[in-house]
Amino acid sequence: MDFRDAAEDAAFRETVRAWLESEVPRLGPAPDKLEERVEWWRPWQRRLYEAGYAGLAWPREYGGRGASVLQQAIFYEECDRAGAPDRLDVIGAGFAGPTLIEHGTAAQKTRFLDRILTGEDLWCQLFSEPGAGSDLAALTTRATRDGEGWRIEGQKVWTSAAQVAEYAILLARTGEGERHRGISFFILPMRQPGVDVRPLRQMLGGAEFNEVFLDGAHVPGDLLVGQLGGGWKVAMSTLGYERAAIATGRVNTLRLLDELIALVRDARGADGLPLGRDAFVRQRLAELYTRMTLQRLTGKRILSTLAEGGAPGPEASTAKLFTTPLVEEICDFALSVIGIEGQEEPADTDPARAKWLRLAYQARGTSIAGGTTFIQRNILAERVLGMPRD
Ligand SMILES: Cc1cc2nc3c(=O)[nH]c(=O)nc-3n(C[C@H](O)[C@H](O)[C@H](O)COP(=O)(O)OP(=O)(O)OC[C@H]3O[C@@H](n4cnc5c(N)ncnc54)[C@H](O)[C@@H]3O)c2cc1C
Repeated sequence: MDFRDAAEDAAFRETVRAWLESEVPRLGPAPDKLEERVEWWRPWQRRLYEAGYAGLAWPREYGGRGASVLQQAIFYEECDRAGAPDRLDVIGAGFAGPTLIEHGTAAQKTRFLDRILTGEDLWCQLFSEPGAGSDLAALTTRATRDGEGWRIEGQKVWTSAAQVAEYAILLARTGEGERHRGISFFILPMRQPGVDVRPLRQMLGGAEFNEVFLDGAHVPGDLLVGQLGGGWKVAMSTLGYERAAIATGRVNTLRLLDELIALVRDARGADGLPLGRDAFVRQRLAELYTRMTLQRLTGKRILSTLAEGGAPGPEASTAKLFTTPLVEEICDFALSVIGIEGQEEPADTDPARAKWLRLAYQARGTSIAGGTTFIQRNILAERVLGMPRD
C-alpha cells in the first residue's frame, strides 16, 4: 500500500492549506466556554460552507462536495495543522446528517441537511442512559403515541453539547417484547418544555456534556426516522458513521508529537542541562514517534477501506485502542516536561501550557466515548482471535 498522497489529493492539500493560512489567523483565539465558542464558531462554519468545505464527503445533491473520505481526512489534518476551530458540528455533519441521507424522508432531508452544513443548527445524540451505555439495547426511555406524534419520557446521560443543540437524534422504546425490535429512532427538537438539560461539571470546570431529562417532550409525527420499531437498524448506521468520524477525525498525533518535541527541545532538566540530552527522554520520544507512525498508517488503511466503499472491520477497534493511550501518554509526557506549572488551573496559565492539561483530561473521556477500551478488546477477542461471544 502506498501511503503517500495521490497527485490529485496532494493538489487538494495545497489548495486547502493556502485557504486555511489566509483564513484562520483572522479568527483570533477560541473562547473557553462552550456557549461562547458556538457563537464564535458559527461564522467560521458559514465561511467553510461558502468556500465549499462543509460536508466535504456528503453527496453533491445534499449540499456536499462529493469528495473522497481521504480528502476529508486531508482537510481535517490541514485544519489541525493550521490551528482551525474544533468541529462543533461533528454529531450533525459527521453522523446525524449521513444517517438522514441514508434513512430520512425527502421532507426531513430538505428541512435539516442544509442547515447542518451552514452551521445554523447544531445537533446532539440522545442514545446513552444511566443503565444503557455499552449495552445500548437496554435503554428504557419510552415514546408513546400522542395524537399525530409521540410523547417522550425518560433520562439520557453524557449528552455532549445538549445545552447548545437545536435538535437531537433520539432512541426510544416504542414496543414491548424483543429488545432490539422495540426501539425507534426520532428527531427531537431540543428547545421545548419537557426537555430539561442539566450540565455535568467536569474536572477543569467546564461542562460540555449533560444529563437530559425528558418529561412529556413532544416529537411531531413526521420526525420518526425509518420504520416504527426499526430504530436499531438506523442506530447501527449512525454508530458506523460515528466510528468512521472517529477514525477520520481530528486526533492528529503528528501535530501533538511535533509540539511535544518542540517543548522538550526548549526544556532543561533539574541539573540545568538540556532535557533533550537525557537518554531516557530521547528513547521515550523515539518510542512515541514509532507508535504515532503506526497509528497513522492504521488510520490510512481504514480510510482506504472506506474510500473503496468498504466498512472498517476490527482495524477500527485496533485504531481506537491504539490511539487513546498514545494521546494520553503524549499529553502526560508533556505535562511531566512542563512540571508543576502544567498542573495550574488552565484559566490562570499560559494557553499553550493549559492546552496539555485539557487534552490529558479529554483523552480519558475518549477511552470511554464511542465504545470503551474494554468493549474494543472484546470485539478484537471475538472477531480476530475467534473467542466465544461475550
Ligand atoms: C466524553 C464523552 C462524550 C459522550 N458523548 C455522548 C453523546 O453525545 N451521546 C450519547 O448518547 N452518549 C455519549 N457518551 C456516552 C458513551 O457512549 C458511553 O459512556 C459509553 O457507551 C459507555 O457506556 P457507559 O458509560 O454506560 O459504561 P458501561 O457500559 O456501564 O461500562 C462501565 C465499564 O464496564 C465495562 N464493560 C461494560 N460492558 C462490558 C463487557 N461486555 N465486557 C467488558 N467490559 C465491559 C466498560 O468498558 C466500562 O469500563 C459520551 C461519553 C463520553 C465519555
